[in-house]
Amino acid sequence: MAENHKRQRVGQVKEITSLANPVIKDIRALAQKKRRDETGTFLAEGRKLVIDALELGWQIRTLIYAKALRGQPQVEAIAAKTVARGGLVLEVSEKVLTAITRRDNPQAVIGVFDQQYSPLDAAEMGANDTWVALDRVRDPGNLGTIVRTADAAGVRRIVLVGETVDPFSMEAVRATMGSIFAVSLSRASAAELLAWHRTSGAQLVGSHLAGSSDYRSIDYAGRPQVLLMGNEQAGLPEGLARACDRLARIPQAGRADSLNLAIATGLMIFEARRHLLSLDVTE
Ligand code: SAM
Repeated sequence: MAENHKRQRVGQVKEITSLANPVIKDIRALAQKKRRDETGTFLAEGRKLVIDALELGWQIRTLIYAKALRGQPQVEAIAAKTVARGGLVLEVSEKVLTAITRRDNPQAVIGVFDQQYSPLDAAEMGANDTWVALDRVRDPGNLGTIVRTADAAGVRRIVLVGETVDPFSMEAVRATMGSIFAVSLSRASAAELLAWHRTSGAQLVGSHLAGSSDYRSIDYAGRPQVLLMGNEQAGLPEGLARACDRLARIPQAGRADSLNLAIATGLMIFEARRHLLSLDVTE
């Protein structure tokens, strides 16, 4: 029985060593935003990430693993899951992995997954929910770090406002350290965010260098919170800032004009959720 299963699965695994293989060319092209947009897919690197993504129900299109891992029970299990969900399994050489990831010492397991966005208008917030809205975020490292930090603090959704960097770029996904699979992403224009806010019942707290409230003095309890962060260069535009219920400022000393966006977002998130976080709670 076990032998049968093995023979069957091996038949569904393609072995590839050539960079000229068209399937590999297609996967390598996912480094480009244009190709990710056309296919609606993206790359995630690392065995743990791929296992977590499958557990959370993300749709895998292709599993790629290093030939050296052939026969490892965990990898066999991921491969079987991929096949069961209609995905392709590729066993490849180190050279192919290096080319796909564009890195020396590449991860030995890579997945191609479907991108997921959830519509903002269908979303409802509970009293203890905190969301983060990012106005035109530009830097993939900042976005990935924010997704990771949001996940760590129990933030369930990030709204990308206006033209933003692609959250599914390799750099952003790497910086999320797997949290890309745990936090919902929505996209909205500034007008759509504000229209949603009018009926949401949420407190919209803008994080602003000229904010009149110390971010530690705001009451974040008993009501859903949306923390709105400004663009790295321009900050929050006038229209968005005016629509906020509160404008929060993080006090600074020293010569720095402002904090890095990801750091400021981290401070805002942990302050807004301070009353909900405890060492005893592992949600
Ligand atoms: N030159 C920009 C400006 O005038 O806003 C600086 C933008 S800052 C690098 C990026 C974002 O991080 C800001 O829009 C704001 O949301 C947040 N931020 C950074 N430092 C902050 C502070 N001290 N207080 C409140 N928000 C801050």
